[in-house]
Amino acid sequence: MRWRPETSKESSRRSWRQRREARRAAGKKPRKPKHQKACAEQVGSAPSSTIWDMAHHCVKCGRVLTDPNSQRHRVGTDCIKRYGSQARTIHNPEFAAWTARWARAETDRVAQQVKFDAEYQRQHAAYVEALDRWRRVRSGAL
Ligand SMILES: [Zn+2]
Repeated sequence: MRWRPETSKESSRRSWRQRREARRAAGKKPRKPKHQKACAEQVGSAPSSTIWDMAHHCVKCGRVLTDPNSQRHRVGTDCIKRYGSQARTIHNPEFAAWTARWARAETDRVAQQVKFDAEYQRQHAAYVEALDRWRRVRSGAL
């Protein structure tokens, strides 16, 4: 509900001097509280969930692999001709760690937001009360 200026009937009961005094006594209008938004801790972007399973020995003949491409295909240059690529992907442990970090950050953010919400509710209730009092003082009722 909007506050409307005092009615003429009310104001006629007081002199302009009394009304000026009432305005002065009321002081500044109470400030509306701000609702804060919690920020999550930075966890960076998600790493890929899977990675190449690198082999340092040929899975077919056991020879040492030095070429990064051969390591990814898990076979040597001769064996790849015979057996084809043996490349496979595995779960990225970094991804699980990142997911855990993200979940923790999100939990913290939600907890902080709950605190902010409670603080806002408290401040807003105080503001409504202060504003009501300010209006009454300003209108000369108090
Ligand atoms: Zn081989």
